[in-house]
Amino acid sequence: MATAAPVRYQPVIGLEVHAQLLTRSKLFCGCAAAFGAPANTHVCPVCLGLPGALPVLNDGAVEMAVLLALAAGCDVQERSFFARKNYFYPDLPKGYQISQFDRPFAVGGRIDFEVDGEPRQVALLRIHMEEDAGKSLHDGFSDSDRYTYLDFNRAGVPLCEIVTEPGLHAPQEAHAFLVRLRSLLTYLGVCDGNMEEGSMRCDANISLRPEGSRTLGTRTELKNLNSFRNVQRALEYEIARQQEALEAGEEVVQETRLYDADAGVTHPMRGKEESHDYRYFPEPDLLPLVIPQARVEAIRAGLPELPAARKRRFREEMGLPEPVADLLTLERPTADYFEAVAKGCGDPRAAANWITGDLTRVLKERKLDLSASPVPAERLAALIRLMADGTVSGKIAKEVFTAMVEEGKEPADIVAERGLAVISDEDELRAVVEKVLAGSPAQVEQYRAGQTKVFGYFVGQVMKTTGGQASPRLANKLLREALDH
Ligand code: ADP
Ligand code: MG
Ligand code: ZN
Repeated sequence: MATAAPVRYQPVIGLEVHAQLLTRSKLFCGCAAAFGAPANTHVCPVCLGLPGALPVLNDGAVEMAVLLALAAGCDVQERSFFARKNYFYPDLPKGYQISQFDRPFAVGGRIDFEVDGEPRQVALLRIHMEEDAGKSLHDGFSDSDRYTYLDFNRAGVPLCEIVTEPGLHAPQEAHAFLVRLRSLLTYLGVCDGNMEEGSMRCDANISLRPEGSRTLGTRTELKNLNSFRNVQRALEYEIARQQEALEAGEEVVQETRLYDADAGVTHPMRGKEESHDYRYFPEPDLLPLVIPQARVEAIRAGLPELPAARKRRFREEMGLPEPVADLLTLERPTADYFEAVAKGCGDPRAAANWITGDLTRVLKERKLDLSASPVPAERLAALIRLMADGTVSGKIAKEVFTAMVEEGKEPADIVAERGLAVISDEDELRAVVEKVLAGSPAQVEQYRAGQTKVFGYFVGQVMKTTGGQASPRLANKLLREALDH
């Protein structure tokens, strides 16, 4: 009896990403939006939901939100509306979250990314603005076995929620998309993209469908994904789990599942809520959000150069190979640093080599961010210039670089203090050459008998004697003179 070929399933993934906007104050009140303050110090009647307090929209948040929407190619809506999303949770003091529902401020758009160097893209459904909830603190207190504590500093902090189409088809694509999205957010300066601190959060929706089918399968929504890696891992686990269920003839239950990073598995948390569960209704305390076309155009004019354009420029104008340009443009501070070094030394390739090589290694060893680099861009540029003008050799430059990291000094000062400059004084070097030749009579004999290959040995000896500081050009010239005499 012929057995039917096994059904192949295609994963379908849609992501909902919350990005915390880097405004000074919250979305509807004047409280500071900063992370890390002592609990419940950034609160007021508005964000605590006390009776009678009224929200006032933060215009700076609108500015950042529109900037993001334009960078993602969305259509910014002239009129959009805030709505109340009602649910009960202890960290939600008002009993509802002010969000945007059926009329978000931005629709459409798309994000380009790459997987293994192959260009891919995913369309966006929408971007909307909403306020964040507070934070429940479940552990870390002596009585955490009995009590949950609440910190409302985060309540009311502005968020943009970026929602993709169900248009990603592999966990790796979800990961690559998130890397690009973070890069975009940080380039724009609208979000710091820090997943550990929760300023960027991602829920992942995933379903399977038979290969070739056009209809969507039943999805689960994965939460508690606190790193890009975990998004990828949770999706991998969930694909396998759903596939097993489908192959066993079971149905996938539409539900919200929590990822347990330690165990690497997802657990059911609750049935997936539907939008009617939230009793959405228009927020009566706020006017419609009106963003006139002229304002959209003014914000568009202020868009910075985005990663893709910058990468192209690094390749075309500075001659960097594509993987290097990619690496240097992923995060804006890296790209800015590179440009400063390249400009300061006039040699983009040398700048790129130092940054992707020695500097990256040092930063990694010391667990430092480029913003806290022990070597400022101007100093690295100065070091590269010292190499270019022949003051130090490549080998010595590495030594100078190490000293720059350790002592925080100018490269020229280190070279002077330690006497590391190339020896280009003829008399000084001639004395070294004579000493080397006098100490290697056998090799001199060989050379003069026609085995000119032995010349490299003499160069090596001169370098060794001078600790790598001999000018290679001069050493060559003097050796030839002495040997051919
Ligand atoms: P909700 O707000 O209830 O989570 P949405 O319709 O706003 O639902 O969709 C949320 C996300 O889920 C979107 O990113 C969307 O692409 C994705 N999504 C919707 N249906 C599916 C499905 N069947 N499989 C995978 N992803 C889906
Ligand atoms: Mg959702
Ligand atoms: Zn407040």
